[in-house]
Amino acid sequence: MSIALNLDHAANAARPGARGKASLVGLSRPDLAAALGAIGLDAREAKMRASQLWNWIYQRGVTDFERMSNIQKGFRQTLADNFMLDRPEIVTEQVSSDGTRKWLFRFRDPVNPNMPPVEIETVYIPEEDRGTLCVSSQVGCTLTCSFCHTGTQKLVRNLSAGEILGQILMARERLGDFPGGVRPDDGGLVPAPRGSGGSEGDSRAITNVVMMGMGEPLYNYENVKQALLIASDEAGISLSRRRITLSTSGVVPHIEPAGREIGVMLAISLHAVRDDLRDMLVPINKKWPLKELLEACRAYPGLSNARRITFEYVMLKDINDSDADARELVRLLAGIPAKINLIPFNPWPGTNYDCSSSSRIERFADIVNAAGYASPVRTPRGRDIFAACGQLKSETERLSRKDREALAG
Ligand code: SAH
Ligand code: SF4
Repeated sequence: MSIALNLDHAANAARPGARGKASLVGLSRPDLAAALGAIGLDAREAKMRASQLWNWIYQRGVTDFERMSNIQKGFRQTLADNFMLDRPEIVTEQVSSDGTRKWLFRFRDPVNPNMPPVEIETVYIPEEDRGTLCVSSQVGCTLTCSFCHTGTQKLVRNLSAGEILGQILMARERLGDFPGGVRPDDGGLVPAPRGSGGSEGDSRAITNVVMMGMGEPLYNYENVKQALLIASDEAGISLSRRRITLSTSGVVPHIEPAGREIGVMLAISLHAVRDDLRDMLVPINKKWPLKELLEACRAYPGLSNARRITFEYVMLKDINDSDADARELVRLLAGIPAKINLIPFNPWPGTNYDCSSSSRIERFADIVNAAGYASPVRTPRGRDIFAACGQLKSETERLSRKDREALAG
């Protein structure tokens, strides 16, 4: 059972609606100052105003220049005449029976407003002590992992830094995470974690961000980097880098720069321990096979027992779930500070794979645990609204009722 809400008014109220103006969301501080310089401010004032805007946009979540009370009225109007603080439009917002929440967001093309808009999905997963936002980096994906629904959708385009941040800002707004915000009361559980920081008190709905939505984040490196640097900026959204995880299927050349330049936690979609099988499941393996991938992991900047790499391993019946696979997994990861995340396969219409049985998953987890790895089995969340790992695809709304019911069952 899920509830679909009609949120057109809420979403559209947040949009300035002006076409053709430059968005300030997603600009680095120097770029923000430069944009202000371009409308006539001298360098010193541009820098000062950039700091004020930064605070309004990211810390207070304001989308209307008129509300920026420490900026003179005349200049607020100049800002509104030249710029916008756009957020995505909410096409649908669904709440799963387990409290998981999924948005279908729509973005206009940032460069050419006449291009057709694109749609992506963002998922919020509340747990007792944390709330995780699963963010998309691309519309579709260029890669074709055989067990992933997103992989069946061709890449439409990369999301801009502003669009990646727009997902976080809109989710924070809907979950009442900005100062003065109101928590939703529609049945979606929102945790009240303690000590998670933030100037709005000691609780936030969104405590963690994972780049595990649609797309391969390391194939949109510059925009993902910029968005995550802004999300972790202390004067803004202020998410600790240790609470941001970037998941990659294994774009080896970008792994070291990601650690050095972004400094977030790393997750690797491993899924197989032999090259012949990984070539089939995660075809990027043909380009960067296991040996090179694991070398890049060993060299990940900042890696330590306190900052481990998460290895994701989807449990596919009779494909990668034998005792021998588990033992080989342990052998491969020897010496890497690692966590192993066993993900029960989430089915989607048309897939040829099945999820391993729970006894098989338990046995696999036992072998991995016995070797000293924490290996939580990730409980599938939000399957009834198609929000679980690997199920995201913007066309899901157009699936037949029969297919949807089969999945909810
Ligand atoms: N493109 C990136 C991040 C997005 S996918 C990556 O591949 O890492 C997030 C995670 O869900 C990845 O580990 C992915 O392999 C996994 N996944 C994809 N399809 C799945 C499915 N049907 N069931 C369970 N996990 C899946
Ligand atoms: Fe793309 Fe990740 Fe899906 Fe592979 S698992 S197709 S990289 S989104």
